[in-house]
Amino acid sequence: MTATRPPLDYRTSPMPATTQHALPSYLDANHLGPWGIYLAQVDRVTPHLGKLSRWVETLKRPKRSLIVDVPIQLDNGTIAHFEGYRVQHNTSRGPGKGGVRFHQDVTLSEVMALSAWMSIKNAAVNVPYGGAKGGIRVDPRNLSMGELERLTRRYTSEIGLIIGPTKDIPAPDVNTNAQVMAWMMDTYSMNVGETATGVVTGKPVDLGGSLGRNEATGRGVYTLGIEAAKRIGLELNNTRVAIQGFGNVGGIAGKLFHEAGARVVAVQDHTGSIYKESGLDAAALLLHVKENGGVAGFAGAETVDPAQFWSTPCDILIPAALEGQLTAKTAPQVQAKLVIEGANGPTTPEADDILQERGILVLPDVIANAGGVTVSYFEWVQDFSSFFWTEKEINERLVRVMSEAFDGIWKVAQEKKVSLRTATFIVACTRILHAREMRGLYP
Ligand code: GLU
Repeated sequence: MTATRPPLDYRTSPMPATTQHALPSYLDANHLGPWGIYLAQVDRVTPHLGKLSRWVETLKRPKRSLIVDVPIQLDNGTIAHFEGYRVQHNTSRGPGKGGVRFHQDVTLSEVMALSAWMSIKNAAVNVPYGGAKGGIRVDPRNLSMGELERLTRRYTSEIGLIIGPTKDIPAPDVNTNAQVMAWMMDTYSMNVGETATGVVTGKPVDLGGSLGRNEATGRGVYTLGIEAAKRIGLELNNTRVAIQGFGNVGGIAGKLFHEAGARVVAVQDHTGSIYKESGLDAAALLLHVKENGGVAGFAGAETVDPAQFWSTPCDILIPAALEGQLTAKTAPQVQAKLVIEGANGPTTPEADDILQERGILVLPDVIANAGGVTVSYFEWVQDFSSFFWTEKEINERLVRVMSEAFDGIWKVAQEKKVSLRTATFIVACTRILHAREMRGLYP
């Protein structure tokens, strides 16, 4: 190994000046932050990579990181500036791929980590992509539809230099949706002078989107959730499920668990925590969240202290909101037998160790929530061929791709006696670094 200079240690280095304000609380000096968490996960897998560990440094540095200024005129006539990012972590196996999030806590460190987790996720399910992610530090709830559209279009133009159907393909993530993707597709298309549907996935179905894409992440969480439950002898009927985040991921997964006979007893989001011993009506709750922006005020449920959420008596816990939720503080409270990570990066490495010691199985984000990008891949393929599949075909292929990937990862975890996260990283990093090695270094 001949690294010419040591990598920047993001665990101890100060954040770039532009990201020093308004950091989420778990990003203080005593904590790793998302990029530090990712680096720690790579360190854990390195001893298992054999000769390929020679290339591991490539995973510890994003290939390309772009910070852009996104100025827009607000409805009141003033000009506001927002900071946007697009990070391409790795493109050894194919173009960059990953979502765009709009959130007030977005930082470069976070987008770097999310892009890296996309590299791992895409390799884990073996879709032919590298990893990328984007974001804008903005609270979209404070913007009108017109402001949101201008923000999206200007951001797309700014990152237009590095995205494209064969370069890097954005998709929805936290607080972005099919409408945002339609604006991104249109803006990119206007700039290149042709309708380029394949530049983003998660589009409206009438604009080259795929059937089943909207539900795909939640469906994947449910699909692998039941696979994992089976392997630890957990029956679904009457099983108690607690979910943090009831949007596109947690909400859809919750609805599917509910339909399969499980009881969704507790749900928490940014508006509050609710509880119902006999099980919440997940379909009705999804509707309530769509109409009211959160779970608070849902009829027929008790409102409970949010601090008690992690200690809810349950069999399955699904963190499906943001990263850094299961920590050294919250992990000891968990009562579940199985944790299914719907969110990206919800568990810190310390919490991983605590859960493992306590015999709680963690189905990690990089495989559990890969359903979204898997159907994004189907959408991209359909766009290129301009030939669209039925929802049944899509769902069947989704289940097949995810179940096969999970089988392989489960075997690695058993053989090497490692956690499912480390096993997923072993499978994914091996694929990425093998591609890296075969391609060789340019020039
Ligand atoms: N944002 C989703 C994720 O974190 C989907 C990404 C995609 O479809 O490209 O996996």
